[in-house]
Amino acid sequence: NVREAGGDSILSLSSETHKALNRRSVIEKRLLLALDQKNLKVLYQPQVDLQTGDIIAVEALVRWEDEEVGVVSPDELIPIAEESGLINNIGSFVIEEACKQAAKWKNEGLNLKVSINLSVREFRDKNMAKSILNTLEKTGCPANLIQIEITEKFALEAEAETSIINQMRKLENAGIVFVLDDFGTGYASFRYMQLLPISILKIDQAFIGSLLQSEKTQRLINGMVQFGKSMNLIVLAEGVETIEQRNLLEQYGCDAIQGFLISKPITELEVSNLVATV
Ligand code: C2E
Ligand code: MG
Ligand code: MG
Ligand code: MG
Repeated sequence: NVREAGGDSILSLSSETHKALNRRSVIEKRLLLALDQKNLKVLYQPQVDLQTGDIIAVEALVRWEDEEVGVVSPDELIPIAEESGLINNIGSFVIEEACKQAAKWKNEGLNLKVSINLSVREFRDKNMAKSILNTLEKTGCPANLIQIEITEKFALEAEAETSIINQMRKLENAGIVFVLDDFGTGYASFRYMQLLPISILKIDQAFIGSLLQSEKTQRLINGMVQFGKSMNLIVLAEGVETIEQRNLLEQYGCDAIQGFLISKPITELEVSNLVATV
């Protein structure tokens, strides 16, 4: 009996694994097609300056709903794309959309920066910086309207790769600003603070989510804000959902916030309308 039960669970495990592998390969196939047909979308989530209350930037977040596999969230999509190499194609798509949109907003009289998430794998392409600068030129988007969000994992790997640092410097010299995303959750090596051209520190939403739970967390987040300020960085908090969180962050001297309290990720049209009403 015990043996049978064991046999069963091994069987069901392997059928689960089989299902996962199958979904993965279907996703890869469909993604290739979707990229070809430009069937992905980008939504934008506002970032608000706490001093002025103005929307100063938006984060571009990729969205994909496929006829066959349904909605594939970025948390599922991005790792698969990274492993299959399709992340570079997603990057090109999002960069082009973001630059086009920033240029369009600028022509409407809106000075909105657009923040793009890029992974370290994309920067292993030696032509990454050049291709971003080409897209800026092609779309008529000024470099100072574009921000690039990198994670601590990216920073840690980039630290050891001169060609990535050089590409980042090239983009920084052109006027693009780098944001350290999900700060505090990855690999806290402070060496990359010395080496990489980072201008904005984005405190991870997991910290903000627990902000009201304990005094210890409050001291921690206050400390992160003070650290950022002392490094002359702009400090941005993500995942702000309540007015209480906002007020505490303001009290600590945090510069800007992003989160459901302001808005969830929305379409470009909704962004224009929201800016008009703020
Ligand atoms: P992220 O860059 O840290 O983006 C923030 C995520 O938190 C987004 O999830 C956003 O929708 C969500 N969020 C924003 N405000 C709140 C809030 O107040 N509460 C809560 N609970 N969540 C909030 P999303 O869009 O599902 O993206 C997940 C992650 O996938 C992103 O994390 C980013 O690392 C990655 N990602 C998204 N789009 C792209 C892309 O175009 N390229 C790359 N390489 N990665 C992307
Ligand atoms: Mg981000
Ligand atoms: Mg983040
Ligand atoms: Mg995050």
